[in-house]
Amino acid sequence: MLKRTKIVATISDKHCDVEFLQKLYEAGMNVVRLNTAHQNFDQARAVIDNVRKVSDKIAILVDTKGPEIRTSSFGEELNVSKGDKIKLFGNPNGESKGDSLYVSYPKIVAEVSIGSCILIDDGDIEIIVIDKTEEYLHCQVDNSGIIKLRKSINIPNVHINLPSLTEKDVEFVKFAIENKLDFIAHSFVRKKEDVIEIKKILEQFNSSIKIIAKIENQQGVDNIDEILDHTYGVMVARGDLGIEISAEKIPIIQRRIVKKCIESKKPVIIATQMLHTMIEHPRPTRAEISDIANAIYQRVDAIMLSGETAYGAYPIEAVKIMTRVAQEVEVNIEPDPKQKLVRINNEITATLARSAVRACANLPIKAIVIDTLSGRTGRYLAAFRGKIPVYVMCYKPQVMRQLALSYGVLAEYMEPRTTRDHFLADAMAIIEDQSKLQLEDLVLVIGGSFGPRDGASFMEISKVKNLVKNGK
Ligand code: PEP
Repeated sequence: MLKRTKIVATISDKHCDVEFLQKLYEAGMNVVRLNTAHQNFDQARAVIDNVRKVSDKIAILVDTKGPEIRTSSFGEELNVSKGDKIKLFGNPNGESKGDSLYVSYPKIVAEVSIGSCILIDDGDIEIIVIDKTEEYLHCQVDNSGIIKLRKSINIPNVHINLPSLTEKDVEFVKFAIENKLDFIAHSFVRKKEDVIEIKKILEQFNSSIKIIAKIENQQGVDNIDEILDHTYGVMVARGDLGIEISAEKIPIIQRRIVKKCIESKKPVIIATQMLHTMIEHPRPTRAEISDIANAIYQRVDAIMLSGETAYGAYPIEAVKIMTRVAQEVEVNIEPDPKQKLVRINNEITATLARSAVRACANLPIKAIVIDTLSGRTGRYLAAFRGKIPVYVMCYKPQVMRQLALSYGVLAEYMEPRTTRDHFLADAMAIIEDQSKLQLEDLVLVIGGSFGPRDGASFMEISKVKNLVKNGK
C-alpha cells in the first residue's frame, strides 16, 4: 500500500548494520539523517557505506551542529538547589567548581542582560540573571539539579552573535560534498544569511546538495519568509524550539510554517519526539499517534525519528507505526478542491502540476508520470498533495534521492531520452516492471517537448497501451 508521507530516520554508527537498515527501508524509511553533533567522519562514513549497500534511493541528510553554547568540558559538576546564587563566566577553558559555572561562549556576559532566563541541559535547570559585573553574570537557580559538563545552554529571546557555521560544520559540509550526499540540514537557522553562507560553499564546489533550514528559535520563526526565499526545505525542529519558545506555542508555529512551506512548494519535515515513548517501550502513547496524524493532516512532506531509531529499543517498530498511521490518515484527507494553497507565481510547471492534480479528481487516472532534470517538476507535483502516485523519472541519481523527501513522489532513475515517445515508452516499462500499471490504465503525463533542459511544456492523458506502442 502506497505511503505518501516520507520518513526520515536518524541513524548512529553504533547501530547501522546492513540488515538493520534494510529492515528500516522495507518498513518505510526514505531518508537517513546523520546527526554530526554526535559523529566524526569515520562514524558518518560507516553509516553512509551501509546505506548505499541497501538502496541508491535512500537519501542521506547531514545535520550540522550549528551555533551552540555548552557548559565547559573542565572542572566539576555543580549540585545546585532552588534559590542558590551562582556566577556564570564565558570561557570555554574555565573549570566549573563550587558556585562558578563556566560556559563555552566568551561574549555571554556582554550579550545577556539582567532578567534573562538561561536554560541548561535541554531546559532541565533554569537560572535567572539577577545582576552582572564585567566578569560574570550573577544568577539565581530556579530549580534544583546537577549541572553537568558539556551540557546545552539555551537563552530564549536573546540574539546571540555566534557565527552560524562552526569549523566542524564547514568540514562536514565539505565531507557531504565529497561523499555526494543529498541534504544538509543546518541547525539554528536564524536569518537568510545563515543559509546563504552554506550555499556559497556549495557553489564553490559546484555541488547540488540541497539545504534544509532547521527552525529552532524565535529568530528563525520571525524570519521564516526570508529564509524560505533561500532554502530548499525546512525542518520544524521541535526539540530546541520547545526550549527556546513556550511549549504551548509550538503547535501554532508548526502549523504556520507547514502552511508557508506548502504555499512556496518547499519540502517540510516535522521533527522530534514523534514516538519518544518507543525509545524504551514497544507501544507508543495515543497522544504520539495523534501527533503524527496531526502532522499528516497538515500535509507535511516528512516526519522524523531521532533517538527512536538512533539508539532506541524498537526502531523498526517505530518506522512501521509511522508508516501505518500515514497510510491510514492519507486516504482520509479531503483534497483541497481548488488547490488554492500553493502559489503558482506565473510558472508553467506549477500551472501544469495543478492541472494534473485537478484532472485526477475527474478521471480514473492511475498514475502521473513526469520527467525532471533538477527535481523541480517532481517537487511542484508534490506540493499539490494529490492522491494519485506521481512517478518521477530522474536523469541524475542525486535528484532521484532528493525526491525521497517530497510527498507522494516515487522517483526512478533513467538515462536521458531524446524524444518524447522514447521517454514515455521507457518510463512505462520501468513502472510496468514493478507491476504497478496495466495496459488499459489511464495515465497522465507531464513532459517537455523541447528536452529536459527547457522544462515541462505539455500534459496528456492516455492509456498505457498507447504510450507504449508509440515508442516502439
Ligand atoms: C530538534 O531540536 O528538534 C532537532 C531536530 O535538532 P537536534 O536533534 O540536532 O537537537
